[in-house]
Amino acid sequence: MKKELIFMGPPASGKGTQTTKLAQETGLVHVDTGSLLRAAMAEGTEAGKIAKGFVENGQLVPVEVVAAIIEDRLKQPDCAKGFILDGFPRSLEQAEILDEMLEKIDKDIEAKTEVIYFDIPIDNLMERIVYRRSCPACGAIFNIKTMPIIKEGVCDYCQTELVQRKDDTEEIAKKRFETYFSQTAPLIDFYEKRGILKRIDAVGSIDEIYQRLKDVI
Ligand code: AMP
Repeated sequence: MKKELIFMGPPASGKGTQTTKLAQETGLVHVDTGSLLRAAMAEGTEAGKIAKGFVENGQLVPVEVVAAIIEDRLKQPDCAKGFILDGFPRSLEQAEILDEMLEKIDKDIEAKTEVIYFDIPIDNLMERIVYRRSCPACGAIFNIKTMPIIKEGVCDYCQTELVQRKDDTEEIAKKRFETYFSQTAPLIDFYEKRGILKRIDAVGSIDEIYQRLKDVI
């Protein structure tokens, strides 16, 4: 049966790191909305041009733009065996659009959708955000305060120069948290009522959290 996982949690709750690990181990495709939007912005596509102002202000990109990008990605043949959605849906409206999308995509097959909620107090997340650096080539994520990095400013895996996301500043991160609480957090209740939400304690080391994740999926 096709497995469809939706990972939810506040910004910097570790969803991206865990998705990368799980995707590598299981072959499920990592569909990371934020990265898809940043790629569209870098390429200067029409969607990217619209998204830019919203991303750089910590706001949600208009739903029709994001939905088109996600639908395109989920229809690719590699997603037929299953995927992990990281960063979509982020509002009730998007959740309803996703329902319609999956109904079409999965109409001839059996699929199971599960939502994993990364439960973590937000107190330390701002630190994670401002010290976060990522590799623009391979997507690896580092924290320059808490993680030993072999060579300063350079990716351990592919030696590309690390970058800081433009929206990983304290000012923009505050807006991203506001957006999360006002628009995304109501989805917890929405999916809980549907009986498909599982919570994991997202405080701990990467390996501890990964183990908890595997225990519930
Ligand atoms: P992320 O990489 O998941 O932290 O996302 C970075 C930014 O991309 C967010 O702050 C939003 O501006 C935008 N974004 C990501 N996912 C979505 C979504 N599902 N809907 C609207 N905007 C999104």
